[in-house]
Amino acid sequence: MIAVAQTSSILVPLNDLLRQTLALEPELSACLRRVLQSGWYILGKECQAFEQEFAAYCGVAHCVSVANGTDALELGLRALGVAPGDAVATAANAGGYATTAIRQLGATPLYIDVAPATMTLSPSDLAARLNPSVRAVIATHLYGHMADLPALLAVTDGARVPLLEDCAQAHGASLSARKAGSWGALGCFSFYPTKNLGALGDGGAITTNDAALAARVTSLRQYGWSAKYHSAEYGRNSRLDELQAAILRVKLPHLDRWNARRRHIAAAYSLALAGAAIASPPDSAESYVAHLYVIRTARRDEVRAALRARGIATDIHYPVPDHLQLAAQAFGGEPPTLPVTEQLAREVLTLPCYAELRDDEIATVVDALAALPREVPNA
Ligand SMILES: *Cc1c(COP(=O)(O)O)cnc(C)c1O
Repeated sequence: MIAVAQTSSILVPLNDLLRQTLALEPELSACLRRVLQSGWYILGKECQAFEQEFAAYCGVAHCVSVANGTDALELGLRALGVAPGDAVATAANAGGYATTAIRQLGATPLYIDVAPATMTLSPSDLAARLNPSVRAVIATHLYGHMADLPALLAVTDGARVPLLEDCAQAHGASLSARKAGSWGALGCFSFYPTKNLGALGDGGAITTNDAALAARVTSLRQYGWSAKYHSAEYGRNSRLDELQAAILRVKLPHLDRWNARRRHIAAAYSLALAGAAIASPPDSAESYVAHLYVIRTARRDEVRAALRARGIATDIHYPVPDHLQLAAQAFGGEPPTLPVTEQLAREVLTLPCYAELRDDEIATVVDALAALPREVPNA
């Protein structure tokens, strides 16, 4: 059975970027030609227009584009005043991007456990662990689920610490009719090709209602210039190019439709899992844009093999929490104990969920989920 599983071919891939590119081919070709012929390739009209369009979409006053999502986190933290030696509170189950940005600044991550139901930052654990060395808090909207922002902001506002939203998996998600990226002091986005809104290369952005923060990030993304060739401080080179900006302008009007399709797929999977001893994602309301459809099961290897036997690709997001990474050892000290985070790393499994999945592929996954054992003995 296992041998068959390993040799059978993939019927439902975890992702297939070519489908979206082909569906938009005429529009994309036209915009690429427009940029080629403009003779202007960095920080021009496309970039400016995309920033305005994305700010309007997110319901914020300012959007500053940057080269990628990790840079957005790094420059965002720096704009918030995070300096070497400061602590930044964050979750350890979100792929390590926040930790990378924090370490790049010479700051130290303070890991907060996640809530079991949402898999995002636990407001009560945050309240318990906040201390005066914490200069900022990063809340990641993991897998496309918005974190519990009302509860988290009650904690951070009370402590007068800024909250940064990592929206790299949550473009277009909204809670109480307010979009991800409009709640915290800053929102950080990635436009990596597999994201809900993805470029054909790298890209990122910071959203904010604070004009001073937007100005600071605008300076930091271009060497720290206050004006051309004048540096008030040292920054980075982290710019979104005109080609990627033009591509994102083509794609942004499709985002809500794509997110609706992702939610539809997620709802079909959750229905098929009803009664199985497998935890499906919390909900499929507006606050979930189904960037990833992640189930939890103590019998992950078996479930994975059963799906693989039916040609369904899966992956694990993420296998090693930040505090247990090899890279963390260089900084010494005992890693913290994060029981929920560590249990999730053993149990999470990602199923294919993206807007271009065909109905027959969805049916293949639904049938496979419905065929999983309904009663699983306690592991
Ligand atoms: C993808 C991602 C990032 C990093 O984005 P890049 O553009 O790849 O640098 C940051 N945070 C989260 C949660 C992500 O999923």
